[in-house]
Amino acid sequence: MIARAIERAVDVLKGTGVRMTPQRYAILAYLLETKRHPTADEIYKALESRFPSMSVATVYNNLKLFKEAGLVRELTFGDHSSRFDADTHEHYHITCTSCGRIEDFEYPTLNEVEEQAARSTGFIPSSHRMEIYGICPDCQKKASHHH
Ligand code: ZN
Ligand code: MN
Repeated sequence: MIARAIERAVDVLKGTGVRMTPQRYAILAYLLETKRHPTADEIYKALESRFPSMSVATVYNNLKLFKEAGLVRELTFGDHSSRFDADTHEHYHITCTSCGRIEDFEYPTLNEVEEQAARSTGFIPSSHRMEIYGICPDCQKKASHHH
């Protein structure tokens, strides 16, 4: 499944005139294989032994490129540590405010909320974002062990 996703990504990049390089391939494959929503720095650390000449900036620039091609979603939290997600199907995220872990969850898309916003403001909605914050099960356990 990941092999097919990579094949698809390679085709999409070709279509935008972006050449596939071993580094680009490795970054894409890493992102498609992980569920962790890594930062550019985490991707860099996972791949630096294989690509000693690669820098965090290279990773970041490639992520931007993937984002422009619609292959990657950037999750921003207003602090410099954007997270990246190669799962582009419609889904939402819940973030642990204690350890920073991000989990996916499914929910019907909030199109009705967009419609309601349009009705009450006259805007034409183009997108929305929803993020849930809380304490993950592991952090709940750690907290209860301290009592
Ligand atoms: Zn946590
Ligand atoms: Mn996700």
